[in-house]
Amino acid sequence: MNINEDNELNNYQIMYVTPVEAYTLMESSMDGLSEEQVSHRLKKYGKNEISKKKQSSMFKKLISNFTSLMALLLWGGGLLAILSGTVELGISIFCVNLINGFFSFFQEFKAEKATSALQKMMPSYARVVRDGKEVKIFAEDIVPGDIMILEEGDRICGDARILRCSDFQVDQSTLTGESNPIRKNYEALQEKVSYLEAENMIFTGTTVASGTCHCVVVATGMDSEFGKIANLTQNTEKSLSPLQKELNVLTKQIAIIALSVGIVFMLIAVFVIKDPLLESFIFSLGMIVAFIPEGLLPAVTLSLALSVQRMAKDNALVKKLSAVETLGCTNVICSDKTGTLTQNEMTVNHLWTLDSQMDVSGEGYVPNGKIYVDEQEITAKKSNVLRLLLSGAVLCSNAKLVPPQNKSVNPRYTVLGDPTEACLEVVAKKAEIDLDKLNSQYPRILELPFESRRKRMTTIHQLKDSFEGNQRIAFVKGSPKEVMELCNRCFKGSKACPISEEDRINIMKANDMYAREGLRVLAVAYRTIAHNDKKLPSSIREYTPELIEQDLTFLGLIAMQDPPRSEVKEAVELCHSAGIKIVMITGDYGLTAESIARKIGIIKSDTARIVSGTELSKMNDQELKNVLEGEVVFARMAPDQKYRIVCALQEMGNIVAVTGDGVNDSPALKKADIGVAMGITGTDVAKEAADMILTDDNFASIVRAIEEGRAVYNNIRKFLRYIFDSNTPEAAAPALYLLSGGLVPMPLTIMQILTIDIGTDMIPALGLGAEHPEDNIMNQPPRRIDERLLNKKVILVGFIWYGLIITLFALGGYFLVNYLNGWPHNPLAPEGTALYNEATTMMLVGVVFSQMGMVMNNRTEKESVFKRGIFSNHYINLGLVVEFVILLAVVYIPFLNGIFNTAPIGLIEWLYALPIPFIVFGIEELRKKILRNKDK
Ligand code: ATP
Repeated sequence: MNINEDNELNNYQIMYVTPVEAYTLMESSMDGLSEEQVSHRLKKYGKNEISKKKQSSMFKKLISNFTSLMALLLWGGGLLAILSGTVELGISIFCVNLINGFFSFFQEFKAEKATSALQKMMPSYARVVRDGKEVKIFAEDIVPGDIMILEEGDRICGDARILRCSDFQVDQSTLTGESNPIRKNYEALQEKVSYLEAENMIFTGTTVASGTCHCVVVATGMDSEFGKIANLTQNTEKSLSPLQKELNVLTKQIAIIALSVGIVFMLIAVFVIKDPLLESFIFSLGMIVAFIPEGLLPAVTLSLALSVQRMAKDNALVKKLSAVETLGCTNVICSDKTGTLTQNEMTVNHLWTLDSQMDVSGEGYVPNGKIYVDEQEITAKKSNVLRLLLSGAVLCSNAKLVPPQNKSVNPRYTVLGDPTEACLEVVAKKAEIDLDKLNSQYPRILELPFESRRKRMTTIHQLKDSFEGNQRIAFVKGSPKEVMELCNRCFKGSKACPISEEDRINIMKANDMYAREGLRVLAVAYRTIAHNDKKLPSSIREYTPELIEQDLTFLGLIAMQDPPRSEVKEAVELCHSAGIKIVMITGDYGLTAESIARKIGIIKSDTARIVSGTELSKMNDQELKNVLEGEVVFARMAPDQKYRIVCALQEMGNIVAVTGDGVNDSPALKKADIGVAMGITGTDVAKEAADMILTDDNFASIVRAIEEGRAVYNNIRKFLRYIFDSNTPEAAAPALYLLSGGLVPMPLTIMQILTIDIGTDMIPALGLGAEHPEDNIMNQPPRRIDERLLNKKVILVGFIWYGLIITLFALGGYFLVNYLNGWPHNPLAPEGTALYNEATTMMLVGVVFSQMGMVMNNRTEKESVFKRGIFSNHYINLGLVVEFVILLAVVYIPFLNGIFNTAPIGLIEWLYALPIPFIVFGIEELRKKILRNKDK
């Protein structure tokens, strides 16, 4: 043994000792640590966390908002304005930049807080033994010396030495780059190898590819191998979502358009109208500044982050913001059955053997209930086959039933592990089997873990009372068809005898009878193994499923109920009306799957196809696509077939959401446009591969998330429409001036345009991001993935329809002031006069008042705003008040009058202005009503 560094003594030494010595070295035992030891070690070693790379400081983030390309352009513009003598404009442009910078920073900060709050909602757990009991704890609470229990799909949360394991393989690619799973064992190493190559060691950050293991933790947190290299691998760089990228491009495009429009206006002003160069330049500069939608990107990020938070409350944790957008386009959901569509709270209802059929009373995991044959109560003591059937089933299970401990913490019976297995313990208790005695009589010596591919699981036990301890028994449980095919004997009339063709037919008939009722059926079989069986390898560690799972004796069937979740039927209906197709892909038996699919409405017609795994393997891609056109349920699927179905659906042009929980589901989850992992039953590997995690494993939560995804996109459109609608009057003002050859003096000054853009636009616009989905949002087909955010409709409604309405009311105000002064007999008031200031003020008032109506209009697309409550959006209410106060200040504070070229307005003007929001709102409500009628 060669140990170099004192502080790593245990870590390296531990590879070369026996399992018993290993946990002794860690001052632990198979019963795990005591409470006291844990708290002592937590203090000594700290939490089991990998500390994050330092985030860039707040100050740096703040500064970055003032140094973006757009901001630099604005600084330059402001400077030019000051140099050219218009100090007010320069200062205003600086103000625009400052307000924008702070506004963006604030939104970015809020968005970040929302996302990091979300990360905290995704804790990882670990199964450990403490004080002799198996418990589930937060991974961060693991300490060196803890006895950790791992199974397929678990993420390993501490460096550990394996104490015992079966068929245990680990994917160490995160640490070593080696992508093939590495087989591990528990024996002491005889030769010197490097730490990471040790077969009896496992490491933080890697995952269990197959099998189960007990191990003792040797290093946690930053002391683990992963911790040591974490600083190198940590990649905190955030990538922008496609929507954000699109907006980035859009902002730049708009800036270019603004720049071009500005230049064209300047050229016309200088060369056609012969305005002084400086004046024209300043004017164009202001216009450009006004047109740039500076706050757009952070506002969108915020609205995405807020919606992600809302989804989290609805049990859907979205890992990437981009997933929200894709959700809105999803048109196919491939869902598994157990747990997602059903409750995954199994209750065994029936037991079946070749001699009798038994009914089981009682619901859920409470082990109160009885077993009856022909209404006669029966227990394991009275029936040999019942005792064998249930003992075999329980011995071949890893789940544990946890009785209620105390009313506040754990008031109900809960399960640790797979519910399919947990309910076996419940029924065994109902049959009065003493489980402690059973476990000590038949200690487990090997497990060939459950695999979805094999659809079964086997455990081998020592028969203590057998001659010289040389007899072993293997119990196999799994999908009836698969298990029955491996049987050549059956238990009938209290003894084992060869299985006949008729027996096989009867078994399958019974299976189908239960499956048709939507029950999940397991078969149990056994085989005795002589210690010196020549056909088997001498070392038990070399036993494989192929060698053991043969020559079995069939014991019986166990049929369990797993009712559909109550909310699923409605969610399925909602999907159908939203143009979303649901494809069930399950590992369960065809008839069970069909029965559940019909119950919840996934399939309705008589022509619906139920395709089994074997059938699918015979289909070519085109045949598969043809099947996918209609109603279909895929049953008895292997995980790689799920991947194939997802590929075919995508090739057909669909945007596919896929649910999954197992390790083998991860390729399909990654391939999907939206991979959805189960939060409760899902393995860590599946959760890592997914884009979204359902904390309640519930199908209905996916549908709610899709609804939210659609709403976000719509809200961003509403937001865009609102921002753009004020650009039309802002452009109309100079256009009128230019087109009239200067006869109409500029109806809106640059300072006033800036007032609109930074003063009155922003806060109400933000409120639009908080609107909840429209009622009919799930009655529409999904958005096409190639549909642009800035589509024809946004331009038509925002720029043209809303824009023209605002322009009309605003120019109306401008001409009203002139009219009251004698226009058209008198010429329009020229720039620099008091009357001109009053007229432009009225144009400003017209725009702001129209926008008050418009922000309300933009809250819905077709739905009446009355329906959702005029004042139900508090952000918008606040926005309206702020808008109004800013306007009053600009109109009535003399100092501001000087800066913004405004003047107080009189009673007639107010009488003109006050109805504007109501008229604007009324016109649009009318249009929406017409649209709704047309839809009907
Ligand atoms: P879904 O894919 O919809 O979640 P599923 O849970 O039935 O359904 P799998 O987990 O692949 O899918 O299981 C396939 C079959 O294997 C089941 O129908 C059942 O017969 C059998 N099975 C499931 N769990 C176990 C288990 N723990 N031990 C033995 N056999 C099992």
